[in-house]
Parts: sequence; structure tokens; C-alpha cells
Amino acid sequence: MLRGVIVRAFNSYYFVQTANKVAMCTLRGRFKKERFSLLVGDEVEYTATGEEKGVIEQILPRRSMLRRPMVANVDQVILTFAAVNPDINTALVDRFLILAELSGLEIVICINKVDLADTNQLQALAGLYQRIGYPVLLLSAKQNTGLEPLKQRLFGRISVFAGPSGAGKSTILNALEPGLALTTGEVSAKIGRGKHTTRFAELLPLSGGGFVVDTPGFSFTEFTDVAAPELMHCFPEFAKFAGNCKFTTCLHHKEPQCAVKQAVQEGQIAPKRYDSYLEVLTEIREARKGF
Ligand code: GDP
Ligand code: ZN
Repeated sequence: MLRGVIVRAFNSYYFVQTANKVAMCTLRGRFKKERFSLLVGDEVEYTATGEEKGVIEQILPRRSMLRRPMVANVDQVILTFAAVNPDINTALVDRFLILAELSGLEIVICINKVDLADTNQLQALAGLYQRIGYPVLLLSAKQNTGLEPLKQRLFGRISVFAGPSGAGKSTILNALEPGLALTTGEVSAKIGRGKHTTRFAELLPLSGGGFVVDTPGFSFTEFTDVAAPELMHCFPEFAKFAGNCKFTTCLHHKEPQCAVKQAVQEGQIAPKRYDSYLEVLTEIREARKGF
């Protein structure tokens, strides 16, 4: 049997990528009875029934599942922002970070367009997030600088890019993999994907090994589903202090003797980050009032 990763699903066909080819596979009957839904990203074993055809016999256990877009086994999210043009907005960075934290995936922050940015500003920005523990990569897709560390992080893993439009996600992917844009264009033409066709995610193989999800992850509508205690866990730098709050249920807002607020005052937690937390906390509470 051959082993591969589902890179694309169309009707009841699954396209399975192995080391050197893509096979168009159907699913063994018993899976249909179990109503098991196979996802892009699932690792499978299949029997070849032709040069590039097969029948899926086995589905390997899933390591993770991302809901939007629906992809199995994603390892990490690459949050991408432009340093300048559009100018980076840390409140927006923090919102993307919350969504990324909720996904439970590893997070890498990429700051692109460093060719347009001031070095001191970049260092301050990178420092803000590095101190929390996030890896921050500075790069310029246009000038082809700083791409190597990103390439290494993508190697052998399934990654999803997310971030505001205009940050340079497509440019980065093209710089990493010049053939990529071309391939996806052909694929969408082949399956006749129009504007109104349901959009399924696809995995794009990187020649160096690993895959990237072709659609950006996340959307902002998910915030209202988040419970306040869940939100504070999306700010990893709070954890060290939260244990010392007077109330174990402290949401670090108006509660007295809050160790997180004290850490903000003492400069151990960045005030900007705390502001982002309060902003989203308020939104969540406002949304709940309607129920
Ligand atoms: P996406 O919406 O995140 O996919 O962003 P795009 O890849 O479409 O890039 C948006 C714009 O930013 C394009 O005009 C790119 O040419 C430009 N751009 C991308 N990367 C860089 C960079 O490193 N430096 C500069 N100066 N411009 C860039
Ligand atoms: Zn507190």
C-alpha cells in the first residue's frame, strides 16, 4: 500500500500526494457506511488501481483539525503582516493572535515589507512579540531577504497563512515557490471553480517538503463564541501573573488586587497588549448581552 496526504477533494474523489505523484482516489465502501468525512490534510494509505489512481483503504489518526478552513493535520499558522503599507496595527495583530491561539496551533509571526520600514521601529515591534515567546521573522518578499528561516519552518509541515490582505502572503508564497501560483491557477481552471462554487481548501506542496493551505485561515466572526475565561488564555504572558490574583475567577478587568493589572502598571506586561485584551473582552460581553 502507498501512503500519502490528501491535497484536494472534489465530489467523491480524493487527490493523494505521495513523494513523487498525485493519485486520484476513491474511498473504500466501508468508510461511506460509517459516514466518515475525510478532509484535506488527512494522511491515508491506498491501493493503486492504475498509474495515478487508487482506492483509499486506511485513514491515519488526525493530529489536529482546523475549522475555518476545514483542514486536518495543520501544524502551524504563519501570521503575516506588512510592517508598512498598510502600516502594522498591533491591535489587529493581537486579534489574529487570539484566533491563532484558539486554534491551538503553533504560531509564527512574519513581518513583511521590511524594505519599507524603519529599523528601530521594526526592532521594537519584533521585541514586543518575542518577549511573549512568539517567534518573529522579519522579511521582504519583494527583495527576497529573510525568506530562508521561513522556508526552514515550513519544511515537512502543514502550514496555514493568515493575516490582513495586502500583507504580502501571495508574494511570499511565490517567492518561496515560484511555480506555486501557476499550479493553483491551473487547478482552479480544471475543476471549474467559479465565484459561486463552494470553496474547499487545498494543500499546495512545497518542493522543499511540506504543504501550505491555499486559503487564508480564520475570520473575525468567531470572537463572539469565545468565553471570557478562554480569552485570557489567548494572552500567554498573563499566565505567569494570573495565579496571584486575589480571585481565582479574576478576568483582570475591574476586580480588586489583580496581579495582571499590576504587572501592566509595572511594565511587565505591555499596556498595548492589555488594551487589546480589554477591547475584545468588552466585545464578547456586549455580544452576550443580546442573549
Ligand atoms: P496578500 O493580500 O497578503 O496576498 O498580499 P500580496 O502578496 O498581494 O501583496 C500586496 C502588495 O504588497 C503587492 O503590491 C506586493 O507587490 C506588495 N509587497 C509584497 N511583499 C512586499 C515586500 O516585501 N516589500 C514591498 N515593498 N512590497 C511588497
Ligand atoms: Zn486578575
